Amino acid sequence: MRRLRSTSKIGSCPCCFIIPPHMLHRLATSGDPALAETAGRTLRETQSLVAFRAQLSTGAPSPAAARHKGLRRQVFDCKGSSDLPGNLIRSENGPASRDKAVNEAYDNAGTTWEFYSKIFGRESVDNHGKALVSSVHYGQKYDNAFWDTRQMVYGDGDGVIFQRFTAALDVIAHELTHGVTQFTAQLAYQDQPGALNESMSDVFGSMVKQWALGQTVDQADWLIGAAIMAPGFQGRALRDMANPGTAYDDPRLGKDLQPGNMKDYVQSSFDNGGVHINSGIPNRAFVLAAKAIGGHSWEIAGKIWYHTLTERLTGTADFAKCAAETVSVARDLFPGDASIAAKVAKAWADVGVLEEASPATALANVSAAYVIAPRMMEIAAAAMPAAKKKKASPKKAAAKSSRAASKKKAKSAGGR
Ligand SMILES: [Zn+2]
Repeated sequence: MRRLRSTSKIGSCPCCFIIPPHMLHRLATSGDPALAETAGRTLRETQSLVAFRAQLSTGAPSPAAARHKGLRRQVFDCKGSSDLPGNLIRSENGPASRDKAVNEAYDNAGTTWEFYSKIFGRESVDNHGKALVSSVHYGQKYDNAFWDTRQMVYGDGDGVIFQRFTAALDVIAHELTHGVTQFTAQLAYQDQPGALNESMSDVFGSMVKQWALGQTVDQADWLIGAAIMAPGFQGRALRDMANPGTAYDDPRLGKDLQPGNMKDYVQSSFDNGGVHINSGIPNRAFVLAAKAIGGHSWEIAGKIWYHTLTERLTGTADFAKCAAETVSVARDLFPGDASIAAKVAKAWADVGVLEEASPATALANVSAAYVIAPRMMEIAAAAMPAAKKKKASPKKAAAKSSRAASKKKAKSAGGR
């Protein structure tokens, strides 16, 4: 298990950014004065945004609240300022702009909305028809894009490592999925629940791109953010869901830190407990499950993950809880094909969250072919407060998982 130490910490995150703080810190100390200046400014603005957005209220709409039907988009232009939302440039059914970023924000938000509507019958991020508001050209060479609990915001990037953040459909779908999580599971933006929050955004971000391109699981590249990387960047993308830890190796940005297995789980005080780092583990579990099942990711694996996110998970869910629920949902949604649940369980075993039960256990209970892996139990026990740890047996600790620690640390849900 690797440990990372931070020199500064961004606390519970009510805004969800596509570029995590450890990447910006690395750029800020890269020795390249222009990149360091831009990354440093992005980090400072990020901290003040987080502090401001923490005051906003963000619960799910009441079931009785008014529902709007249909797609409603608005795109604003900040013209290099940090004042949101900026000037309204394009509205639903309005003419296209001469500005590429405006049209990309409009089109990619529309594709994401259509995906959720056609595949899952969801009416916008809140299922109540919330208007999709985007602001482009935020700040000066701003190195990020984010969902601020109410709208999407896009910077233009430094032009060397990152370029126009509106260019990637998977980035826009990733950020809007933070909105879906905000209005459903409300996964806390810390430690394993936070890494699940990030993973759900990558899973549906990639799925929307695959759906738009008509790709099967074998045709998909499983990359996140390939289209926002500038020509000077050394790597393929921000993250590689199929091969976590291999997306980039850049002298200014460092190496991709994502693990793809619980044995490499990173205990970090950075990035809200490594939410953009350890998300590699559930990301890879989804890819393995989707590939084992085959076809289009949104048809079976995507339905299982969507149902799990919107109906089964709550704010403190950890990887083991997500594994158990996806297996259970696979059985419930596809009762006629037991191989689907078995493939989902094997995917979680292949990333070290579950492991195959001993023959004796498996024979005694045919439904318990997999149990929680020892490494997962150790990490869950380590996350418990000291007093409880003394009393609790490892088995009990595993059962309770990391809920106690998550509760204590995470006051705000991801996307909130
Ligand atoms: Zn995110």
